[in-house]
Amino acid sequence: MKILCIGRNYIDHAKELNNPVPEKPVFFLKPDTALLRRNRPFYYPEFSEDVHYECELVVKIIKLGKNIQKKFAHTYYNEIGIGIDFTARDLQSNSKKKGLPWEIAKAFDGSAPLSMEFIDKKEFKDVNNIGFHLNKNGETVQEGSSADMIFDIDDLIVYLSKFFTLKTGDLIFTGTPAGVGPVKIGDKLEAFIGDRLMLKCNIK
Ligand code: ZN
Repeated sequence: MKILCIGRNYIDHAKELNNPVPEKPVFFLKPDTALLRRNRPFYYPEFSEDVHYECELVVKIIKLGKNIQKKFAHTYYNEIGIGIDFTARDLQSNSKKKGLPWEIAKAFDGSAPLSMEFIDKKEFKDVNNIGFHLNKNGETVQEGSSADMIFDIDDLIVYLSKFFTLKTGDLIFTGTPAGVGPVKIGDKLEAFIGDRLMLKCNIK
């Protein structure tokens, strides 16, 4: 399986990092070794001094598809989960400056904590209006809704499937709203969809 991650999919987050609002989705990949499941702790890596959380809705692909048309895109997923796209912001800034790829900053082991549970999309009135938030040490630091995505879930499936065959079990991290920030050892992160606690991650 592969993890496809969308960058700059919320205008307010693109602005907070002084990035232009994209005309097409910006994406990058994480390997399966990035996944952190079952609320396992995140061990702060020695190669970074500025790891940031980015809380994101996650879509799980349920069938094989390539060059998917927009009208069929919704049939490629049934469930929504939540995850954190941990980013070594110091390494990413350095890569951006030099025009280098982002993997060193984004794709390392444990950089993708994922909720155990996924929610059936039928439980939402509208998948394009799903509220979610992230708490750090009990305080809300990020709040977003899929209503504020620049490219909605179907758009992302259409675009990504031009480049990659999507396969059962692939995950799409759909981008983060504003409010990203650093973590330090001892922090406790909790990610919610609506009021439902979906994911916990302690920083060790
Ligand atoms: Zn992200």
